[in-house]
Amino acid sequence: MKILVLNAGSSSHKSSLFDLDPAANDLTPPAPVWRGQLDWSHQAGQVELSAHTAGGASIEEVIKTDSKMEGLERLLKTLHQGPTQVIDALSAIDVVGHRVVHGGPDYSDSVAISETVKTTIRELIPLAPSHNPANLEGIEVLEQLLGDVPQLAAFDTAFHAGLPAAAATYPGPYAWWEKGIRRYGFHGISHRYGAQRAAQLLQRDLAELKLITCHLGNGCSLAAVAGGQSIDTTMGFTPLDGLMMGSRSGSVDPGILIHLMRSEGYSADQLDHLLNKESGLLGVSGVSNDLRAVVDAIATQNPRAQLALDLFIHRLRREIGGMLASLGGLDALVFTAGIGENSPLVWEKASAAFQFLGLRLDPAKLERSPEDRDIAAADSAVRVLVIHTQEEWAIAQDCVALCQAQSG
Ligand code: AMP
Repeated sequence: MKILVLNAGSSSHKSSLFDLDPAANDLTPPAPVWRGQLDWSHQAGQVELSAHTAGGASIEEVIKTDSKMEGLERLLKTLHQGPTQVIDALSAIDVVGHRVVHGGPDYSDSVAISETVKTTIRELIPLAPSHNPANLEGIEVLEQLLGDVPQLAAFDTAFHAGLPAAAATYPGPYAWWEKGIRRYGFHGISHRYGAQRAAQLLQRDLAELKLITCHLGNGCSLAAVAGGQSIDTTMGFTPLDGLMMGSRSGSVDPGILIHLMRSEGYSADQLDHLLNKESGLLGVSGVSNDLRAVVDAIATQNPRAQLALDLFIHRLRREIGGMLASLGGLDALVFTAGIGENSPLVWEKASAAFQFLGLRLDPAKLERSPEDRDIAAADSAVRVLVIHTQEEWAIAQDCVALCQAQSG
């Protein structure tokens, strides 16, 4: 079965083609046979296209266009023409899976795309103004390019749709809830995959596990997962809530925003930019949104870089503590995404606060590795797992399930 996965963003698109045997029960994710990317972010009026295959072939070109349709058309051509050809024609694609950021409160799982689903994604644009329009455009462009191939939407919010009311509600006026102002949570495809993979690695039934999944990339969030269900999470109404991130502040006292509006005349757009683009590791350190650059700056005795790291770790520990309380116990702490997969420093510093639980890391395992693994000491009372997030593979698996449901 040939499955195309598309993650269409506002200034870049990432896509993969998986060729899966639906009967095979693969525990380890197979590499996609083709990966492609479009990037409009560097210069107006042009897009950088790149594609490469599992066999090592690649292509890179710059196309003079702002059009998402034209960019995607050219990208899909690299699937069946030229050096990166992996299929004979686009008609060989069996199903398409789209990553969609916001699915609102009602979708608790991936769904086959219909006019109703598209209307929901459109209606949710005010809640995800920089993501849902691009996701919807990706869906509509592929409908035009591929005809009536089944398409699926995998929502970043879906895994958190069943949050208990006390975790999902903000303590403002009740009218907020009625207007849809509530905690939705994000990174759900990654948190769900991390929890399922953790159960596999631990050789335990997910239904009996209490897990904290730490998605620490440019965006950072935690989920408290009990019995395979997300029961609490740090991101909220928007992906700005919770942990300190690369350039996002995470939770701050909302009184600060009122103060800035009153005393410095900040507009909504200026606050949006300040909190999303000029805060977090970048804002505090003044160096970078990339933790690697912040750590390098600490080595040159940069005090703001040191403060940025200390603050990142402090917030991470504090929020892990919150998730721990929501769970009332912990079988495993799971680290995933760019920082979570690659930073022994963060594993050590975050874990150090939880020694009182009997959590101990194995010093011999504190190195980066392409393997998913358990880095806790043999006698640790809590397992600590490093899992490489596989959001595209998780979407591809949902596509397989959708096709099987539709044909069966
Ligand atoms: P992601 O959003 O998952 O692609 O994560 C990107 C972020 O991961 C980067 O901005 C870095 O902060 C972080 N990162 C990637 N590799 C490393 C590494 N070796 N050590 C620390 N942080 C890393």
